[in-house]
Amino acid sequence: MDLRDVADRVLHNLVGQDLQSDLLHLREPCIVVAYDLTPSQTATLDRRLVMGFATEQGSETSHTAILARSLQIPAVTGLADAIPHVRTGDAALLDGFGGQLVVDPTDQTLYEYGQLEQRQRALQGRLRELRAEPATTRDGLHVVLSANIEGPQEIADVLDRGAEGVGLLRTEYLFLNRRTPPDEEEQLQAYREVASALTPAPVIIRTLDLGGDKMPEDAGPPEERNPFLGWRAIRICLQQRELFRAQLRAILRASAFGNVKLMYPMISGIEELLQANALLDECRDELRAEGHAYNESMEIGAMIEIPSAVMVADALARRVRFFSIGTNDLIQYALAVDRLNPRIAHLYDPTHPGVVRLIKQTMDTAHAHGLWCGVCGEMAGEPVLTPLLVGLGADELSTAPGRVPGVKFVIRRLAHSEAQALADFALRCEDSEEILARCQALTRAVAPGLFEG
Ligand code: PEP
Ligand code: MG
Repeated sequence: MDLRDVADRVLHNLVGQDLQSDLLHLREPCIVVAYDLTPSQTATLDRRLVMGFATEQGSETSHTAILARSLQIPAVTGLADAIPHVRTGDAALLDGFGGQLVVDPTDQTLYEYGQLEQRQRALQGRLRELRAEPATTRDGLHVVLSANIEGPQEIADVLDRGAEGVGLLRTEYLFLNRRTPPDEEEQLQAYREVASALTPAPVIIRTLDLGGDKMPEDAGPPEERNPFLGWRAIRICLQQRELFRAQLRAILRASAFGNVKLMYPMISGIEELLQANALLDECRDELRAEGHAYNESMEIGAMIEIPSAVMVADALARRVRFFSIGTNDLIQYALAVDRLNPRIAHLYDPTHPGVVRLIKQTMDTAHAHGLWCGVCGEMAGEPVLTPLLVGLGADELSTAPGRVPGVKFVIRRLAHSEAQALADFALRCEDSEEILARCQALTRAVAPGLFEG
């Protein structure tokens, strides 16, 4: 452990403790500047008072950043050395688009950002008009465009932003910020609320993905050296069977109230899938014996977010009905780049040729086995990458509700043939920057209006 690491840890403990009590005692609207915020702290931020936040740690695909996007809180993560440059009471401007915190902004800066804000509002207004329009390319390819949500509180947003359903319900947020996990009945109520509000649209409920950066504040297990390689998601569930059983039963029962699909996270090979499906079968038998209704033909899917899962996707495909690619984790595991570490954030590269080929291989394998394949990582919400994912064969894209309109805008202006040509180029290309440049060029050419803001 180097000195910098020791300093980081001491700072983290000091700042972390103060922060916890500061966040509970906010009195006026403010921008929070912190060393780090956990997803559970972010989930409890007082939305009336926190106008935005900046953290020194974290990255664009940390769950803190993902949650900020869902809650529509302006945020900048991975802003190194922010704390020494700002004091409580300073005037500051937070630019979530450009990733900047401007302390004591000049009148000129405030004016320029005022203009930017107006352009953004106008753009959002134009995008909102697409709400009821389908996400169909100019040449007739329909891409299912869904929303990623954390719970029933986001139902209105899903509808308002024109998503077709939910492609990823991150159930772990029901388990954070509390001492005991929600029981079957409480989970049923939450899943059922989402399923019945959106029926007949699909709602993909992902089983518990605790671990990594998502741990209950006070009930977590001992700290791990590599939490993203550790006790996480399906691995926890297969060891804590009663916890898993309660969730599987709740999801099955919710399937009687809408178009519910179930998805397992962090599948590395068939072993976990077989074990999880065996437990699911037991739950079905119990529910049948108890007289509870559920949908016998509920679709079961696997997240593809570990490179080994891509390599054995054919074996997985024989045992599920769909795949959803979790690019946030797939990229971090494929490139060995911790998705939380701002020091190596520049290496976290969605257009790396290795990543592009992994995505293609997954989609091709899914299609060869008659499965559909979606993408639910943050890549799916980047309009600039929409043509690439469509060209590689994505049947579904799922992203934060607020990002749905921009992606829809691009899909509707794109031709599938253009997207395929881009994907063909990306699969031959050896240079990530060239791939990204082509993605940018195509998106700008077909959807210039998106860049006016
Ligand atoms: C992913 O890994 O891309 C994903 C959608 O899951 P999460 O971000 O919750 O790990
Ligand atoms: Mg993941």
